Amino acid sequence: MAATKTKKHHKYVFIVGGVMSGVGKGVASSSIGKILQSRGLEVTSVKIDPYVNVDAGTMNPTEHGEVFVLDDGTECDQDMGNYERFLNRDLSGRNYMTTGSIYKTVIERERSMGYGGRSVSVVPYIPMEVMDRIDKAAELAKADVIMVEVGGTAGEYENILFLEAIRIAKIKHPKDTLLILVSHLPIMSDDNELKTKPTQHAVRALNSTGLQPDIILARAKYPLDEKRKEKIAFNCNVREEDVISAPDVSSLYDIPVNFEKDNLGNLILEKLSMRPRAKDMKDWRAFAQRIHDAKDVVHIGIVGKYFSSGKFILADSYLSVIESIKHSAAFWGVRPEIKWLDSGEFESGKAEDLKKLEEFDGIIVPGGFGSRGVEGKLAAIRYCRENKIPYFGLCYGMQLATVEFARNVLKMKGANTTEVDPRTKYPIIDILPEQKKLMAESRYGATMRLGAYPAVLKKGTTAERAYGRTKISERHRHRYEVNPIYVKRLEKGGLVFSGASPSRRLMEVAELPRSIHPFFLGTQFHPELKSRPLAPHPLFREFMKAAKTRREALHPDLGASAA
Ligand code: GLN
Repeated sequence: MAATKTKKHHKYVFIVGGVMSGVGKGVASSSIGKILQSRGLEVTSVKIDPYVNVDAGTMNPTEHGEVFVLDDGTECDQDMGNYERFLNRDLSGRNYMTTGSIYKTVIERERSMGYGGRSVSVVPYIPMEVMDRIDKAAELAKADVIMVEVGGTAGEYENILFLEAIRIAKIKHPKDTLLILVSHLPIMSDDNELKTKPTQHAVRALNSTGLQPDIILARAKYPLDEKRKEKIAFNCNVREEDVISAPDVSSLYDIPVNFEKDNLGNLILEKLSMRPRAKDMKDWRAFAQRIHDAKDVVHIGIVGKYFSSGKFILADSYLSVIESIKHSAAFWGVRPEIKWLDSGEFESGKAEDLKKLEEFDGIIVPGGFGSRGVEGKLAAIRYCRENKIPYFGLCYGMQLATVEFARNVLKMKGANTTEVDPRTKYPIIDILPEQKKLMAESRYGATMRLGAYPAVLKKGTTAERAYGRTKISERHRHRYEVNPIYVKRLEKGGLVFSGASPSRRLMEVAELPRSIHPFFLGTQFHPELKSRPLAPHPLFREFMKAAKTRREALHPDLGASAA
């Protein structure tokens, strides 16, 4: 870990949670990263998840939220998506760690005599590995500041070794290390009084691990009043100006703007012994404002299998899809209203059930696995195709659009993906032979196509026009592919594979020509993983434009603010 001459000196901002999880620690740290970046600093981030899973790939999204995928194929927590979106930087597996991944490295190193016969005790070797990885991530990004978000909350057993890493960092780099506690202030009575006691306990819990937060971020429904600020400061050993109010906001992209209003940037620089710097948040502020200014509503339906999931879980499982919709809506100055449509409702194929789709300006079928709800999705896709409702299929949504086309346009009865019907007469979507072999060996972990792959777009197609170029790279997470033996037949029937791998063995984008449908397009990759606030994904952007056009055509009488 000794610093060499070429290495840039970096500062550490650690973020830990207090009281409870799910209070927006990831968004808070991404926002802090954003305000530091807006002062001309190079910022990167590391997310630490305390579970033993080596990565998030095997986790059920309804339990843990969306599995985010990075360019290098790392399957990780959705907070990584927040970092990428707020910082507008591509991150890698170096920016993500779990308890499992750290122990795995240490154990493997021990097995290969990497510790030279020493007894490898948990402390200091585990926290040392953690710090090592943080430093490597910072060096790789040539960062001035590295944000390190520790999952879980203070006082629980799981993240104790990560807190130990912070303690060590504070001893080694006292001037370069900052600890921010993101706490939560509940409301118990009708008078809306924010209670500070749980925060006091969280700080005590941190104190018992040898840590004292430098800044306390008070997440609550409302802004903190002076009295509460005083109380937290007095009981938690910080100055009043070190207690930052972080009330709920209607748009999360406002958070960096609000933090700047409170001068959080200056406070952090001062505490990290850095000189004050000018800030430039103009573009971001304009983007955040566009979200508020947008009045015209565009109705987007997301069709999935949602039986027991509940709204909150859904929003969490499709976080990147929702954010991508928001980015492109802000681009066009419209307000998206998103509705979850249970594919089960369309399973009957009855006209009266499918008619519900008419009220939407655009329909998305997002990624998914397994056979439940598939027939309903196919019926919805057919309705969109036949009735010219803008349709955007993401991964499974592209595969099923291809199956639907085979069934209903090419009359290939019973066409399917072998994921649903392994014995189908027309395996339009299938596992490629090389993957089949891995599956036969039960090597499931290695059977997904993960991360960034290049694709080439056909000139003059919707996809190529949207990107404005023919060479692209997009992120993947799937096992099945369009079966190469049917590609010619599908194309002859009118489906355009406008994007494919450079060798054209793997189909990447399927679409219908504009002359036939205003927007009917599916991608084998996940465009939602690469949309950024100030750079909406080109395909989401074009989908949203088509939805807006439909809205305007259907309701020429409706002015601004019409719902
Ligand atoms: N289940 C499909 C596959 O494995 C699609 C996956 C997805 O939508 N992410 O290929």
